[in-house]
Amino acid sequence: AQTETLLEVSNIEVIYNHVILVLKGVSLKVPKGGITALLGGNGAGKTTTLKAISNLLHSERGAVTKGSIIYRGERVQELSPEALVRRGVIQVMEGRHCFEHLTIEENLMTGAYTRSAGKAAVAADLEMVYTYFPRLRERRKSQAGYTSGGEQQMCAIGRALMSKPETILLDEPSMGLAPQLVEEIFGIVKDLNEREGVSFLLAEQNTNVALRFAHHGYILESGRVVMEGPAAELRENPDVKEFYLGVS
Ligand code: ATP
Repeated sequence: AQTETLLEVSNIEVIYNHVILVLKGVSLKVPKGGITALLGGNGAGKTTTLKAISNLLHSERGAVTKGSIIYRGERVQELSPEALVRRGVIQVMEGRHCFEHLTIEENLMTGAYTRSAGKAAVAADLEMVYTYFPRLRERRKSQAGYTSGGEQQMCAIGRALMSKPETILLDEPSMGLAPQLVEEIFGIVKDLNEREGVSFLLAEQNTNVALRFAHHGYILESGRVVMEGPAAELRENPDVKEFYLGVS
């Protein structure tokens, strides 16, 4: 059976400051129920691609100048980030971005603001987040600014979950974290994907870990997709091994 495509990015170009062409025709698909990895080195254009999808480029003086971004058959380029959240797509930004002065629980609750759900439903979702992230339950009364980098990354993902997303755009979850924590977080992403049916588009420089957890991968170089395929195939590809996995 054909899997349903949720997100389809076709041939997008992104220009910063009216002159700097950073994405030079990027196309990718995110299927329902999948973990899709967007890979590539520093500056390849991963963050720009995610921000183009969630319409967060304006504040950086960036714009999509060509191509289309379709979610569930609908063009979403003109939607505000908040309108996109209401349609089920939310971005977890690189660098975590928790509110430092709020507690972990208050941070999580801010994630529910786009919803009209009643208190009981929100409380049930908070419980769901704590079930996946027991560390957040332990730290729920702590001010986010005083928690560890790993806990802040978990808080950012947990807050996104509170909007009941269908798709999470996750930017560089491994950044700055010890290998063991990276494994823990990717393991939780996998559980959320399998048990809650959340689809992920995951930008990662850590090709090794991303290709172990993702189903499909795209490799970006200088604003272009240079390779794509099932994660298992990319892992065995000689070029990927040499240039991205550090083995040959
Ligand atoms: P990283 O992992 O370092 O975030 P990335 O693959 O996510 O890398 P982007 O952040 O998308 O890459 O950056 C792609 C290119 O766009 C880089 O050359 C970067 O210098 C440039 N760029 C990013 N933001 C801006 C901006 N606001 N103005 C001008 N150029 C920018």
